[in-house]
Amino acid sequence: MNKLIHLFTLNGIPVAVTPWFFCLMAILAMLVGNGSFLHGIMFAVVGTISIGIHEFGHATVANHYGLNPQVILGGLGGLTQHRSANAKQSFWITLWGPLSDLILAALSFGIIMLLSMLAPTFLPEHAYMQLFLTYMLWINFVWGVFNLLPIYPMDGGKLCAAILAKFFKPGLALKIGCVISAICCLGLAGWAVAEKQIFMIFIAFYMLIINFAGMKTAFAKREDTIKEQAGLQAEIMYEKGLVAAREHRWEDLEKYGHQMKACAETKDQRKRAYEFLTIACTNTFKYEDALEYSKHASQTDAVKQAVARCKNILKT
Ligand SMILES: [Zn+2]
Repeated sequence: MNKLIHLFTLNGIPVAVTPWFFCLMAILAMLVGNGSFLHGIMFAVVGTISIGIHEFGHATVANHYGLNPQVILGGLGGLTQHRSANAKQSFWITLWGPLSDLILAALSFGIIMLLSMLAPTFLPEHAYMQLFLTYMLWINFVWGVFNLLPIYPMDGGKLCAAILAKFFKPGLALKIGCVISAICCLGLAGWAVAEKQIFMIFIAFYMLIINFAGMKTAFAKREDTIKEQAGLQAEIMYEKGLVAAREHRWEDLEKYGHQMKACAETKDQRKRAYEFLTIACTNTFKYEDALEYSKHASQTDAVKQAVARCKNILKT
């Protein structure tokens, strides 16, 4: 289903289509046509043109930046692939998709208005033309506005993320963007269910899955960073502890042992922290504590010697 069929190259931008796109258009034509062949076909034709113009809006800007874009009609509409762009380039590439739709909608509206003023009988006499222009106006208007909703992975979601990144730190911007996106997506799903818009229900729930997965990663990432930092902190304490042990500063060693235990992230780090505590307590004559700590420590020669010493002293 994901096999690409090359259609043509326009202005140096190759345009390809996936077989799935034809299936999607056929389903939409049947849903919208609702028995009328003319309406169904016209919707599919105008829909394809609109999606193409939308993607060409993205691709033309990407081409302007020299990012070798390629337009693919597929998925739930279309997509434009290009070499990686910086934040500013991404913003303009993204914005020009929905903007192209809105310009096309405005143009169609202008033509309809002009014709109805200059030749009032032309459109009523040419039903195909009237239907074509009406669909051009509405599909582009709806597709443009819909794409600007701040829902990921739509253009509006990407633009919202880009704007948030200007005002907040990256981690926080990502989280705020995810929450806004998920809330809007829930709203869209609710509206689609209430209005019984079958196709929109399908799209909204598909995006809900993407959004909740995104939210999970956005919030999990932070935990990972904290964990990483804690693990790193434990290693710093370990280094300090090694120096303290070499210099026989046993109180310091005990202090680093406790600190390392508190921020240890791995089993190994915890075991090494207990090793410090065992050795430190043995050397500060807290033999019972040392024996208690030794139970959780890595069984190194130093720990074994400390335990033997504690047991010997406690026996006598
Ligand atoms: Zn787009």
